[in-house]
Amino acid sequence: MNNDKMIEEKLKNNDFLTKKSKIKFNCTACGDCCYNQDIILTPIDILRLRRELQTTTDELLRKNIISIHIGPNSKLPVCVLKFPGVQTPTGNLSMCPFLKPEFNDEILEIQKLDISLEEKKEKVAELVKKKILEGKAKRICSIYKNRPTVCRLYPLGRVTEKNKKTGKMKLKFMMIDKDKIPCKKECFKKEVTVEQWLKQNDETSFEKETLKFYDIFTEIGEVVIKLDHSPSEINSLANVLYNFDTIIGCQLSLKNLPNKTKEDKVKTFELSAGMAKNLGDVFNLLPNFSLDIFSKAYKKEFTDEDLREAFNQIIDISNLISCEIKQKYGSKTNPNKSNKKKS
Ligand code: SF4
Ligand code: SF4
Repeated sequence: MNNDKMIEEKLKNNDFLTKKSKIKFNCTACGDCCYNQDIILTPIDILRLRRELQTTTDELLRKNIISIHIGPNSKLPVCVLKFPGVQTPTGNLSMCPFLKPEFNDEILEIQKLDISLEEKKEKVAELVKKKILEGKAKRICSIYKNRPTVCRLYPLGRVTEKNKKTGKMKLKFMMIDKDKIPCKKECFKKEVTVEQWLKQNDETSFEKETLKFYDIFTEIGEVVIKLDHSPSEINSLANVLYNFDTIIGCQLSLKNLPNKTKEDKVKTFELSAGMAKNLGDVFNLLPNFSLDIFSKAYKKEFTDEDLREAFNQIIDISNLISCEIKQKYGSKTNPNKSNKKKS
């Protein structure tokens, strides 16, 4: 489902909702919107995913669950949730890797049994047959508590806007057009305000931090979009935003290689970490990262308050990178390039 054109149209017509706006919507948790989507992840989403799966960003990259790239137009780091695709008679179908049968726990129990693979397959097949007959074979989100922001908002979309006079950032919302979402007729009856919808979906906890983050991100974007290439600091930013393991690794390598020069330590670490490139820029910022917080950012006990602390540190470091980028490239922009930017 590609909503780019629709969003472009709404931006053009200033067709937005405020928190007080009323919408008619009620989610039945059918899971039909978890196919063929492009889900862009924020640093908060990555922190939540790591907590849910008790894993690191490196592992998420290795297992092909997420990917990180530099946007060809925005020149900013983008992290996306990858949907494995299958070819069907009616075309390509991609499904979220976290959309699982509601009896998934029972499947996991079978997988743990001390029996052969063939016996496990037979048991799972029997279970699936039984659940279908009982009408309990629905697919549901298996990471619901830690699902990404896009999923919490759906079918709302969100953009940020900066007041030119006050410099204050504001969140604005939009409802995806009815004909572009798979929800059934009965979903459009119950009236709620946007604010109620956000609260119901636990999407209000990190609003202050989110606005601060987008303010910095937008400022970086305004400088780099005018450049002919994405500067190396953007790779460092990608590590800071999504791949905190590289930062932890850097800090540990600093500790464990006390007699080497900074350049040697950077090289040694870059050689051992797949995603870590151009870490020289980040190295100077390392003392700002708390090893205490980030070293538990893949454990169940990583609380929402820890998450806030980690996100605040990410924002602070992004701000330092932003200052460096503005200072270094602020005046070296290509005057022929457009300054227009979509949030
Ligand atoms: S398709 Fe609509 S009703 Fe079904 S889970 Fe998604 S948002 Fe909810
Ligand atoms: S994370 Fe959950 S809600 Fe979001 S697309 Fe995947 S299964 Fe659906």
